[in-house]
Amino acid sequence: MNPFYIGTNWKMTKTTKEGTAYSKELAAFSEQLDPALIELFIIPSFPSLVPVKNEINSSQIRLGAQNMHWAERGAYTGEVSPVMLKEIGIDIVELGHSERREYFNENDHDINKKVHAALQYGMKPLVCIGETLEEKENNISVEMLSKQLKVCLKGLEKDQLVNVLIAYEPVWAIGERGIPATPDYVSYIHGEIRVVLTEMYGNEGADVPILFGGSVNHDNYLSYFEDDNVNGLFIGRAAWDVLSFKEILKTCHSKLTSLK
Ligand code: PEP
Repeated sequence: MNPFYIGTNWKMTKTTKEGTAYSKELAAFSEQLDPALIELFIIPSFPSLVPVKNEINSSQIRLGAQNMHWAERGAYTGEVSPVMLKEIGIDIVELGHSERREYFNENDHDINKKVHAALQYGMKPLVCIGETLEEKENNISVEMLSKQLKVCLKGLEKDQLVNVLIAYEPVWAIGERGIPATPDYVSYIHGEIRVVLTEMYGNEGADVPILFGGSVNHDNYLSYFEDDNVNGLFIGRAAWDVLSFKEILKTCHSKLTSLK
């Protein structure tokens, strides 16, 4: 059985003081979790990465960054390079979140360069894809997701797929104004993403973990978790409070333990 991924992107919500307190508590709690069952990760803001790393260093928690430039170094004011993240010991680089696409004009071609750079430096790209409400209403979700996958992963060799993670995050389901997706819809789309990945990469594509994110909360997380097409949960608001996150982790862990 592959581990089920559960992680959170803190976005721009925690100071370093808040983030280290959260991480300390989560690291202590994570000792109860079997790493063979749950791959747990947190994605803080850049200034908190090193202090958070110090808190979770001896735990199983993986550390992610919320973005990265593709170049090793250079005149790119305000950017952070793969060399810098690698030096900190980052495991996962989140790429192409819908907020980066919407507010910072990030596109699939940029993401593709970042995916290559992350892999070159031994970090796992967590590639976020998702359709807008308008695309969903025009029944072109699968086409849009397929295009995003094809461009974001362009040029990858089959053997690199083992280090790639995909997060399906419908834009209309994310954040305060998000509408939670029905479990059936998520299951269907994850199945379609799997088809595209398998067409692109054969068996290697069939094994890429596909996480779901977007208004995952205490009322709905089990319905996504229990779907075989869903290989992980990528949680925002419902995981920003460590007690709330621990509750979700505890339930998922006990369900996975009973399936062992
Ligand atoms: C997100 O923005 O990626 C996200 C999953 O947020 P939320 O769970 O708060 O909708």
